[in-house]
Amino acid sequence: MNQNWREHAACQGLDPEIFYPVEDDEAVPAKAVCAVCPVKVACLEYALSGRERDGVWGGATERERRRLVRQRRRTA
Ligand code: SF4
Repeated sequence: MNQNWREHAACQGLDPEIFYPVEDDEAVPAKAVCAVCPVKVACLEYALSGRERDGVWGGATERERRRLVRQRRRTA
């Protein structure tokens, strides 16, 4: 997948630590950044494609992405 979207990532230069919360309720700061990120959809799709397991991507935690994958499987 083309990864040009990374150039427009709102998280560029930010502390990567906030994107790897231990618990989902610690993901609030990361989600706030993702919420205003112009490449949120591309980022989420990249992570959902299975390339990224850990961390917050496209505003979704690992657990939330697993849920999304399950929902998509059910509706496919
Ligand atoms: S959606 Fe979030 S994790 Fe993805 S590029 Fe944007 S700010 Fe970074």
